[in-house]
Amino acid sequence: MYDVVVVGGGPSGATAALDLVQSGHKVALLDREGRIKPCGGAIPPRLMQDFHITEDQLLAKVNTARMISPTGRHVDIPIENGFVGMVDRKDFDPFLRSRAAAAGADYVTGTFVRIERDTQGPSVIYRDKVDGSEHALACKLVIGADGARSKVGRAEVPGGDTIPYVLAYHEIIKAPPKSEVYDPMRCDVIYDGEISPDFYGWIFPHGDSASVGMGTEISSVDLKQATAALRDSAGLTDCETLRREGAPIPLKPLDRWDNGKDVVLAGDAAGVVAPSSGEGIYYAMVGGRVAATACAATLASGRVKDLRLARSLFMKEHKTVFRVLGSMQNAYYRSDERRERFVSLCHDIDVQRLTFEAYMNKKLVKARPMAHLKIGIKNLAHLTGLVAPTRV
Ligand SMILES: Cc1cc2nc3c(=O)[nH]c(=O)nc-3n(C[C@H](O)[C@H](O)[C@H](O)COP(=O)(O)OP(=O)(O)OC[C@H]3O[C@@H](n4cnc5c(N)ncnc54)[C@H](O)[C@@H]3O)c2cc1C
Repeated sequence: MYDVVVVGGGPSGATAALDLVQSGHKVALLDREGRIKPCGGAIPPRLMQDFHITEDQLLAKVNTARMISPTGRHVDIPIENGFVGMVDRKDFDPFLRSRAAAAGADYVTGTFVRIERDTQGPSVIYRDKVDGSEHALACKLVIGADGARSKVGRAEVPGGDTIPYVLAYHEIIKAPPKSEVYDPMRCDVIYDGEISPDFYGWIFPHGDSASVGMGTEISSVDLKQATAALRDSAGLTDCETLRREGAPIPLKPLDRWDNGKDVVLAGDAAGVVAPSSGEGIYYAMVGGRVAATACAATLASGRVKDLRLARSLFMKEHKTVFRVLGSMQNAYYRSDERRERFVSLCHDIDVQRLTFEAYMNKKLVKARPMAHLKIGIKNLAHLTGLVAPTRV
């Protein structure tokens, strides 16, 4: 009998399993393995501090972000006092899983099928990948950390089957040499309706390779064609393509992450990805941590309502950032004119500092009230069209 079975060994599940074994619980971590998670791999320094990720996991440390507008103008934002780290999910996820296993979690490979219940409690039924046979893992609680379109979430938690998604697609290409257009220390973020009418495109360096991709909620957009257009505009068409991958990015956290009984969701399964940026790795790891805390509290108290702690702890810390980023996406990702104005806004040194401090440290900095006021006024002026987009 396990205390907790964690379904899914991505950043959220592996973090939950590690935290739980470290707090003395008996844990099984189930993952189907065999598929690299499609992901740009950008992580903030705060993630590395909070979850003890050392620099040897990084393929690149980015020191500049280039924001590119629909008319091709750009603003280079230096990332002061920090960096954006780049991981390869091909290596990062197995590292997280083996760290949890080394700490004492039982690592099981197989595909989650369903949860069955009897008088003893729930059992996670999974299918063996090799011979297709079904097996059961008896437990007290289950964490569903099986990613976007979570099978656990859809079956067990209200709303788990109706989370809205952006579809994201990227190509991992062989990185070209450093040039006018490509810099292995810079990530490019492309705001252009031709590439994505409602999200953005990106070029993220990964050392010897790079991730080039885009996302959209609009089903009629041809993701491969948009990515080809992006590669063309960035002079990356001739680079060798190493992988082509796509996956959904959830757009809205669920109102409830637990089933009031024995299941709690974490990470993409709970719909938790930051609006505007699509950043999910850090929030998935926090989601795993708060799910582990909620399970530990429930096991200690015997009160199933303690499972709700997962969502409330998360929201206490991150609700404001999610709200601000959501408003930004609503305001600026609607038309090329708005996108043009957004890139103009990025010229402002206070916008640059606050954005990257918030990204790197996961805190809205409160130290400079005048800067916030100034940004608020500029923001309004841009949105109402009182000022024209800056020409460079
Ligand atoms: C194209 C793209 C680019 C992105 N770029 C970035 C970025 O640069 N930075 C960033 O922070 N975020 C990025 N994201 C978002 C980020 O990848 C996710 O938010 C993050 O991976 C969520 O972690 P998770 O552990 O919740 O889920 P996942 O990483 O999806 O992990 C789920 C795990 O569950 C396992 N699993 C699934 N179903 C089953 C099953 N039935 N049985 C057993 N196991 C199962 C899978 O094998 C997987 O290991 C990107 C997403 C996409 C699609």
